Amino acid sequence: MKTEKKALIVAAACAAFVALGDAPAPAEGAPRESIMFIGAHPDDSEGFAGLAFLLKDKYDLHIVDFTRGEFGLGKAGFLDGSTGRIRTEEEKAACAFLGATPHFVGQKNSGPYDSMACADSNAVARICELLAEIKPKAVFTHWPVDSHPDHVMTAAATYVALRRMKCRAEFYYYEVLLCQTRAWTPLYSVDISSVIDKKAEMLRKYACQNKNDELAQTKIKQAEKRGAERNPPVKYAETYTTFNGKPMPNGILANLPETVVVSPAAEVPAAK
Ligand SMILES: [Zn+2]
Repeated sequence: MKTEKKALIVAAACAAFVALGDAPAPAEGAPRESIMFIGAHPDDSEGFAGLAFLLKDKYDLHIVDFTRGEFGLGKAGFLDGSTGRIRTEEEKAACAFLGATPHFVGQKNSGPYDSMACADSNAVARICELLAEIKPKAVFTHWPVDSHPDHVMTAAATYVALRRMKCRAEFYYYEVLLCQTRAWTPLYSVDISSVIDKKAEMLRKYACQNKNDELAQTKIKQAEKRGAERNPPVKYAETYTTFNGKPMPNGILANLPETVVVSPAAEVPAAK
């Protein structure tokens, strides 16, 4: 008994230590369930980083990039391959900060010079492979109505892969910039006020896309807008929806204390 008690005290002390730091909770004992976030470009975690920080202590997180954002710094960096390398390293740093595992599908950022990200058989096969390996409890990807073709292709390939694998994972959509995600009707609003600083810090890891802190500040403002749309309002929120636009009882979002269902009929101003 004495030894057991001592072990319990040590375990409690370790847990308290972990809770104070940024490291993920120890994965001792039974394997934890996993969540997959699939985005077109490294910095698309702008859409779900707040939620990811709320989930990180309970789930293993995986971030899947459809492309490496090869066209994010213009022509020269696209042609010599340097932008893809820079953004890959940035994604690895962001994932390390969050405590997630990065993966890459291998499509190339749309742009000129014959580059076009595509939901082709290679892309679908790679996502199927990741689904089989990770066996996620939930998959999040771009809402498919979007001004950026790479976001559209990512959503399409994810949907096809889920169907092909007859995957039973919970399936959600997130929004990215207001000028990209279109015809967006949020179903869930998640209060991310407790983790907004961590989200902003994570977005700053995508340094080449965050000139003058623009990406971080834009997303803070968007979270403020989404927070203000809740009734009662919260300081910062992210919004999500499901494939059929209906709530998923006992799903990971429904079970989060930070989540409320916002009625599709709510007066949500259209994205600019
Ligand atoms: Zn993107």
